[in-house]
Amino acid sequence: MALLEIKNLHVALEDGSEIVKGVDLAVDLGEKHAIMGPNGSGKSTLAYALMGHPAYTITNGQILFGGEDVTKLGADERAQRGLFLAFQHPHAIPGVTVTSFLRSAINAIRKARSGGEDDPIPIPEFRKELESAMGTLKVSRELASRYVNDGFSGGERKRVEVLQLAMLKPRIAILDETDTGLDIDALRIVAGGVNSLVGADMGALLITHYQRLLNYVEPDFVHVFMQGRIVAEGGPELAKQLEAEGYEMFSSNGAGGGEAA
Ligand code: ADP
Ligand code: MG
Repeated sequence: MALLEIKNLHVALEDGSEIVKGVDLAVDLGEKHAIMGPNGSGKSTLAYALMGHPAYTITNGQILFGGEDVTKLGADERAQRGLFLAFQHPHAIPGVTVTSFLRSAINAIRKARSGGEDDPIPIPEFRKELESAMGTLKVSRELASRYVNDGFSGGERKRVEVLQLAMLKPRIAILDETDTGLDIDALRIVAGGVNSLVGADMGALLITHYQRLLNYVEPDFVHVFMQGRIVAEGGPELAKQLEAEGYEMFSSNGAGGGEAA
């Protein structure tokens, strides 16, 4: 059994409209998965539902993490177990620096893992890990001392997002990529982070509209997502085929056969 197992997941908005219509997906440690789909197909809705965002209601199906049913757990409880979502449109947190944000997040996870007892990371250990990650990811001291996402450029946001991944060490990272505004530099940062962090202790689910990101990070599995459903699955070649032929080939019959002449 994979670490993250999604079974027949249905997700509705607050007005009751169903956006995700039965998704089955398994993501394990060491694996890179890409979900690719057109705008408005429900990719972000799926990501938010996986993290437990209260605006997205799971109306049917299950999310299993390490064999445990986490479908009804809150976002914080899922994060404590090692699920991480990099938000597509992250909010600024005025007054909280990147460094203090990371330390609080680490301490919240440590507290939960030690049964609710405070177990703060020793400052020297935190400093050492942070400096090492900042070095690898080329995050400047100046950036780390700024308020989270406050006036960050796209590239800076991505750097800090990947820094979070490196410091929080989630077991499954979900990255919902913006469809616009990410320059090549930012794509490289994300891809470099994913490539270096996915391994024995981490798996990743990359959600993307464009094939571009996948020029820098080769997924092991590609899932084509349309109108709330996975309509085709394959290896990295599927992403290349999508880039060449577009999503139309999957649109009508939904079976993903469609080798149009
Ligand atoms: P994608 O990420 O694939 O572009 P989304 O999941 O963002 O797709 O959106 C799917 C559909 O759900 C869209 O029609 C969008 O307008 C709607 N939707 C998603 N989230 C909300 C929300 N919080 N409130 C209202 N509509 C939403
Ligand atoms: Mg989206």
